Amino acid sequence: ANPDLTPTRQPEDPDAALRPKSLAEFVGQEAARDNLRVFIEAARGRGEAMDHVLFFGPPGLGKTTLAQIVAKELGVGFRATSGPVIAKSGDLAALLTNLEPHDVLFIDEIHRLNPVVEEILYPAMEDRALDLIIGEGPSARSVRIDLPPFTLIGATTRQGLLTTPLRDRFGIPVRLNFYTEAELERVVTRGAGLLAMRIEPGGAREIARRARGTPRVAGRLMRRVRDFAHVAGDGTVTAKVADEALTRLEVDRLGLDAMDRRYLMMIADIYKGGPVGVETLAAGLSEPRDTVEEVIEPYLIQLGLIARTARGRCLNDLAWQHLDMSPPPAPKT
Ligand code: ADP
Repeated sequence: ANPDLTPTRQPEDPDAALRPKSLAEFVGQEAARDNLRVFIEAARGRGEAMDHVLFFGPPGLGKTTLAQIVAKELGVGFRATSGPVIAKSGDLAALLTNLEPHDVLFIDEIHRLNPVVEEILYPAMEDRALDLIIGEGPSARSVRIDLPPFTLIGATTRQGLLTTPLRDRFGIPVRLNFYTEAELERVVTRGAGLLAMRIEPGGAREIARRARGTPRVAGRLMRRVRDFAHVAGDGTVTAKVADEALTRLEVDRLGLDAMDRRYLMMIADIYKGGPVGVETLAAGLSEPRDTVEEVIEPYLIQLGLIARTARGRCLNDLAWQHLDMSPPPAPKT
């Protein structure tokens, strides 16, 4: 079919439009890309399914995107699901038995798999076999079904959330890190091209600097800044327009948003700089503990604003400076 004649569906996912389609287009994460390139070539060369891959790192760094790219570069099909969606072992069995040989099955939030379902995954990953129990009570028996060779790609926000038996079954663990400002500037410039957005280098730099090291945040900020540029001027995103728009969106000079600042203020104001436990902070912010640990804290730690200690979270000097406050005087010993 001529792709030019195929009607393009409007993607519901706002991220979809910005997704790079190949390893070459994918910005940053050099080490991860170099590794994957080797494994992809080797699997293709041998005509085998690639070994199972685990991507771990904070949300929005490109785990789903890379999984799609791996399937594409392997030249195989791509099926996607997520841990909490697979309720019963039968759901997973149905997914696995419907795979074509060498396909990629992507399971997002794989640390949230139901333990019963997870047990089914072990022999599937290791021996490409499905052990199913048929019937109930004394007449129950176990049958083994062979599966086509496939590649499981799991994604999780923290490697430590996985059980050891599951973690051990991934031959290729890949950590994704926060992006540098220069890398995000390339993400923004590339995205602006795709969104037909006029942007000056200074505008791209300003968005990159304030995107929390995260391409998904960069994409979201770009769209908001573009709207602002149309209302406030001729639509061109200059450094000044970007700064004004981001300030209005309550994204500060370090890229922290209102929630990040509430988090810091709570430790500063109520707990005098800490240490304070994560449960207490989560309750005070009315956010789930997972969100605090997986979304809010990693970037604050990366910037050196807070420290995780055995006794709880503490503010570093940098955070006091950023809040324009002084730490309480050290207690006399
Ligand atoms: P995750 O699965 O880690 O939460 P996604 O793969 O969904 O993250 O990526 C979120 C958004 O960021 C998508 O729009 C994607 O296109 C964009 N993105 C992620 N990584 C990159 C990259 N390296 N270069 C360009 N865009 C990226």
